[in-house]
Amino acid sequence: MEMDQLGESLLELIRLTACDLPPDVERVLAAARDVELGRARSTLDWMLKNVAEARKMSLPICQDTGTLIFYVEHGPDWLPAEFEKTAKLAVSEATSRSFLRPNAVDPISGKNSGNNLGPGSPYFHFSQHEQVGKLKVRLMLKGGGSENCGTQYALPDNDLGAGRDLDGVKRCILDAAFKAQGFGCAPGTLGVGIGGDRMTSFLESKEQLFRSLDDLNPDPLLAELEAEMKAKVNQLQIGPMGFGGLTTVLGVKIGTRYRLPASYFVSVSYMCWAYRRRSLLIADGQASYE
Ligand code: SF4
Repeated sequence: MEMDQLGESLLELIRLTACDLPPDVERVLAAARDVELGRARSTLDWMLKNVAEARKMSLPICQDTGTLIFYVEHGPDWLPAEFEKTAKLAVSEATSRSFLRPNAVDPISGKNSGNNLGPGSPYFHFSQHEQVGKLKVRLMLKGGGSENCGTQYALPDNDLGAGRDLDGVKRCILDAAFKAQGFGCAPGTLGVGIGGDRMTSFLESKEQLFRSLDDLNPDPLLAELEAEMKAKVNQLQIGPMGFGGLTTVLGVKIGTRYRLPASYFVSVSYMCWAYRRRSLLIADGQASYE
């Protein structure tokens, strides 16, 4: 198979994303390991050793290499259709080189396409800016076990005693974290979308997961809410892989979208410890990775 320079850069982006962790995630996992004891500590230690080996050998850090989610910010000189074609070639090649597990299954026939390609796979989100020669591609690989823990609430929710206010939002986040125990390969990170419609609320929650664990929400109220909910979820003491401990989540990231008066959605997307996201930047023909 022949690929142009963009294809080679995308192949490298996929390899880096599948076979390593972003520096902020690795740093936070290591800091969590250092304050844990017993089984929680050794679980985090094995995760970090696993990542170090995977990085050395260019092997996926987890057998489930997840759903491919591409966010593409491009100038007028890049055509989305051309980009998509090149990215699909790179995905197919990455699968044949075992950076990715064949993960795309027809929901009706149950047949696996074998190359991670099929309707809706990968997922592409395009946005255009005015700068010629500049391209930014963010890629997230979202594992199935963690994706299954995602959930959406339509407030009011009588079972949770959650009304259409901040207290109701907090109850939803705690409920989602509690129900994820035993399923999401903790420690996780919660992306939360408040407002929007059913679709955009979930989109917001997923987009929050592209943020760095170290960043501070520019909205002071949301920054406070993120810190409060991270502390409260960690008080559940579910711990790494559910073995108990101080680290149930590495972070909580929250965004909002305007809603209709008649609707109040809270969407929670759960990302597992294998928090795989990377960016490719192309400027003046030079590729770099973050
Ligand atoms: S939830 Fe994450 S860590 Fe667990 S099996 Fe899936 S991808 Fe791997």
